[in-house]
Amino acid sequence: MAKQQILHCSFCGRSRDEVKILIAGQDGHICENCVEHAQEIISQELAHHPDNKQGTAPSSFKLNIKKPVDIKKYLDEYVIGQDDAKKILAVAVYNHYKRLNQKVENDVEIEKSNIIMVGETGTGKTLLAKSIARMLNVPFAIVDATVFTEAGYVGEDVESMLTRLLQACNYDVAAAERGIVYIDEIDKIARKSDNPSITRDVSGEGVQQGLLKLLEGSEVLVPPQGGRKHPEQKLIKVNTQNILFICGGAFDGIDRIIARRVNTNAIGFNVNKELQEYQHKNLLQFVNSVDLKHFGLIPELLGRLPVVTYLNPLDAHTLRSILTEPKNSLIKQFTKLFEIEGIELSFEPAVLDFMVEKALEYKLGARGLRSICEGILTDAMFDLPSQKVKTFEVTLDYASRKFNTSKLSMLKVA
Ligand code: ADP
Repeated sequence: MAKQQILHCSFCGRSRDEVKILIAGQDGHICENCVEHAQEIISQELAHHPDNKQGTAPSSFKLNIKKPVDIKKYLDEYVIGQDDAKKILAVAVYNHYKRLNQKVENDVEIEKSNIIMVGETGTGKTLLAKSIARMLNVPFAIVDATVFTEAGYVGEDVESMLTRLLQACNYDVAAAERGIVYIDEIDKIARKSDNPSITRDVSGEGVQQGLLKLLEGSEVLVPPQGGRKHPEQKLIKVNTQNILFICGGAFDGIDRIIARRVNTNAIGFNVNKELQEYQHKNLLQFVNSVDLKHFGLIPELLGRLPVVTYLNPLDAHTLRSILTEPKNSLIKQFTKLFEIEGIELSFEPAVLDFMVEKALEYKLGARGLRSICEGILTDAMFDLPSQKVKTFEVTLDYASRKFNTSKLSMLKVA
């Protein structure tokens, strides 16, 4: 009797029972692992193929560039207020993508316009970056600067932020290379003190150093699954030259640094008192790279983040608008949820003011508005689908009753 032949993958040599799938070809076989590797190699090679000209984005990511005015208009649909930040972002993003289409001759080379946004948490920094990426139709990743450490220490390598970007576009390297990375909490990697310390600052200055080459544009080897680079993991080469980096941070206490600078620069003695007071309340608008350096960002990093902008704290009026005005505002979202159930949801206007009041009182900011809405509407969302109601009006009395019995009402900060 003929001996039964054991099938092997012709590429890696694994036998039939070591793999899940073995695809037969004319003279050989291939296993699922090798198909996957081959796919990675193909996308890498194609990305650098001469036929893949700069400026032709892959099919699903066709770059959608608008003029700065239109970029701002688009942002207005999703983000309330923050006009200065929107304008500055619109121009920076427009220039950045104009630069992508610029033919590089021995002419003037336009430098990258990576951006840094300073503003309290919950004022819309991430929302702005996310909206821009959506508008441009480019891959977008949000990463948290606090998880990174200098290479060789416990934590993640900075390169892994590009893993997220690759994952966001299904490892389409060419698309990732024109994407946007939003680095949150950049203030948390500030240098711990002005003096180079005896102990190494591996999660502060060390990370800032690591970011330099990513931000300025270079070829970086990225672990496809993130984490530390393992020798056995095949790395993907990504060029960061055309990736736009937007950094954001609250920079707690930077107002004091700005105040010191602004005061020492105060000119003339005829300064209007009211104007002075206004300026003191809104010191962030004067933020610049010098202040960020004093805060603890290294000059080399700041040099690669040439656009600095700020976001205003949210006042009651802005919070009220956030509830109803954005294209996907909370009230619109909840109304839609009820509509799907066949229920017409409405709110007494005083309820909206009540929500804003609570968000301010509990120092929850815009993020808290959602929890407040949920706190008020959860019971209705639980009960109404099993009842035959066609309309539901949230009255002030109902809202305050539900809010006061919700967990949220116990969270008041002194
Ligand atoms: P940050 O990144 O500044 O900490 P986010 O952008 O994550 O804050 O904002 C948190 C949430 O608050 C957003 O998802 C959005 O719903 C809401 N929000 C904050 N600021 C605004 C704004 N200016 N306009 C509209 N919504 C906002």
